[in-house]
Amino acid sequence: MTWTGGELNFRLDPEDEITGRASDEHPIRLATNSCSIGGVPDDAHPDLFAVAAWTIVAPWTRKQVSFDRAISAEVAQTLHDGWGVEAGPVAAEPRGPGATLAISYSGGADSVAAATVYPDAPFVHFQRVTHPRVPNRWPHYRSDVLAKLAAKTGRELTVVTSDLEYTLSDPRPGYPEHHAVAAGALLLADRLNLGGLGFGYEIGSRWLGGGRYLGRYTPDNPMWSPHGRWGRLFAAVGVHLVLPVGGVSEAVTMRLALSSPLKDQVRWCLRGTGGPCRTCGKCLYKELIQAAVERRPLNTPITADQPAARKWRKKPPYGGQEMIEYGLARIPGIEDTLFAKALEYFDATEESTSWLDHCYPKALAEIPDQWRDQAVAFMTENVGIMTEAEVRRVETWGS
Ligand SMILES: [Zn+2]
Repeated sequence: MTWTGGELNFRLDPEDEITGRASDEHPIRLATNSCSIGGVPDDAHPDLFAVAAWTIVAPWTRKQVSFDRAISAEVAQTLHDGWGVEAGPVAAEPRGPGATLAISYSGGADSVAAATVYPDAPFVHFQRVTHPRVPNRWPHYRSDVLAKLAAKTGRELTVVTSDLEYTLSDPRPGYPEHHAVAAGALLLADRLNLGGLGFGYEIGSRWLGGGRYLGRYTPDNPMWSPHGRWGRLFAAVGVHLVLPVGGVSEAVTMRLALSSPLKDQVRWCLRGTGGPCRTCGKCLYKELIQAAVERRPLNTPITADQPAARKWRKKPPYGGQEMIEYGLARIPGIEDTLFAKALEYFDATEESTSWLDHCYPKALAEIPDQWRDQAVAFMTENVGIMTEAEVRRVETWGS
């Protein structure tokens, strides 16, 4: 593969396939073999170029990958151990970690909560732009609105523009790997002196198997655990994965975000320009959480017969099921809403879901030393650490 400035071109080998699988096992189809990343320097460490590229090409690569500039033996070894691929050429010295923790900032509630833990951390914001050769059939996705909101936070901000999501044709444009959101931050790592990159992944994504492992405790999550293949790869280029809110639920991130100095910039919906659209599935899920946190009735224009409500007429398991239980247990009048059917499947009570109001301590333990104390202090003061019994609820989740 070849980088020309921030433009990446890659060619598949004969054994590679255009239908690949990301680390969450989601099948994805390749649409085009080029993309570009704007707002990044062209003189980053070669390992940073390699890992940035790997976040884009990993799903389609089977046996080997050759980069246009030599990488370190450490990165080659990590790619071999994690993915079974031979990577080269090898000749570079590894990159040492920098001193700064930046937040990969999306503007959603989880991301805002992560940012609130580290009030001095700079932001890197990924902004989707159109691809020169792939038609944009998703004009309702208002990435420009999110970028403008990020600029209003008052934080030191670097916006990375990229069309890399259009390398996917199916199911829709998106990150080939979740980690591709960090491709620009990786290329900026030398310039920003990065030693860590913080993400808004919460306890559901990190520990409860959100997505792929629907409903199972996942200490060895391959995407977000520090000892997983991605955690090791990012560490090998001196940019540790950091999950400031990895120990708390979306109820807690919602509460933290809505009481944060950044609360006016929170936006989880990618439709709507003047505010969330209120009619998409994501808005409905977030409304469930917000209503539960605010202990008020559900406020949504969506009715039970609409497509956005369809999944709630089916049986569980659901993605984010812990939050569904939390909402069902707390929202006054939930039995008269489109969640009435889902209510039949659970015996959730405030007591049975109260562990979701506290922080799972192992999530704090895996934050690198230099940033851990601040997260521990924040969670102790603003959230509270789980009791032994609550920890058991996490570790027996789904069993
Ligand atoms: Zn929406």
